[in-house]
Amino acid sequence: MKGSLLSRRNVLLGAATCAATSAIPFDPRGAAAKAPMINAPAPYYYRFKLGNAEATIISDGTLPLGDPHASFKGLTAAEMDKQLADNFLPANNAVLEQNVLILNTGDKLVLFDTGMGSAKDFGPTTGKLLATMKQAGIDPKDIDAVVMSHAHIDHCGGCVGDDGKPNFPNAQFYITQADVEYWTDETKTKEFPSFLAQARKNLLPIRDRTVFIKDQQEFLPGVQAIAAPGHTVGHTIFMINSGGQSLCYIGDLTHHPVLLMEKPLTEFAYDTDPKQSAQTRVKMLNMLAANKTPILAYHFAWPGIGHVAKQGDGFRYYPQAMKMEM
Ligand SMILES: [Zn+2]
Repeated sequence: MKGSLLSRRNVLLGAATCAATSAIPFDPRGAAAKAPMINAPAPYYYRFKLGNAEATIISDGTLPLGDPHASFKGLTAAEMDKQLADNFLPANNAVLEQNVLILNTGDKLVLFDTGMGSAKDFGPTTGKLLATMKQAGIDPKDIDAVVMSHAHIDHCGGCVGDDGKPNFPNAQFYITQADVEYWTDETKTKEFPSFLAQARKNLLPIRDRTVFIKDQQEFLPGVQAIAAPGHTVGHTIFMINSGGQSLCYIGDLTHHPVLLMEKPLTEFAYDTDPKQSAQTRVKMLNMLAANKTPILAYHFAWPGIGHVAKQGDGFRYYPQAMKMEM
């Protein structure tokens, strides 16, 4: 059997040699038959139904935080290395995603957070929001509402272009008053000068089109604000309900699917009040776990949808498979 396969292969090789002699030198490794590498990423969006609404997750690109030992505090280096190694994650670079949600309720097209815009504080891979929206067939002019979880650079950075004009010219903007006031005030944000500059660039030109949201308020049909302070003073998560289904957009309640989950009182260097942030994280994750509410985590591995459950002293994140049929 083996012999006959080999001899058939020789016959085929011989035929290829004959065909190739007139033009291309014959390569016995079969190089002439190889397809070129495409060498371009797949479209960076994901679409699914949520009750009566249509949801599209749009990436603004990956955000490499660098050495996790510098950003996550409270674990020993050995504990952190073990948590990362046990989850097959590198010990030297925590790469976050930026999973932006666009929700079409049927009446309104709502964008949740806007990515980094043109700021390159975390390298060249961010700032893809508008390009990805184009891939997904969504026109920025059609966005009715831009909802922001908080005023950090990677959430408000895409509101306004470098020309000073809003990227979403027909939208109303929704965020807490506390965050706008904090992050546009140079007396309060000395620690992160570029966060101040980006908040001012993006939030001041849209000030007259901004609606301040309040805890527990259903400020758009099916979209309820839930105050989740600590990461920033006004950090807010959003409970979305449509046709009997729900999804909690958790913003920056947790930045890492392991390091802020297994020991959820671990602190994060970019938190305005790390202790309050940790308490909020535990309280909200307890609620989401108890109710088995699906979550969309802005910074978790693409596309950031799954569930949380209690495990040991903390929580475990269970990513959900993408459903490619609508
Ligand atoms: Zn963030």
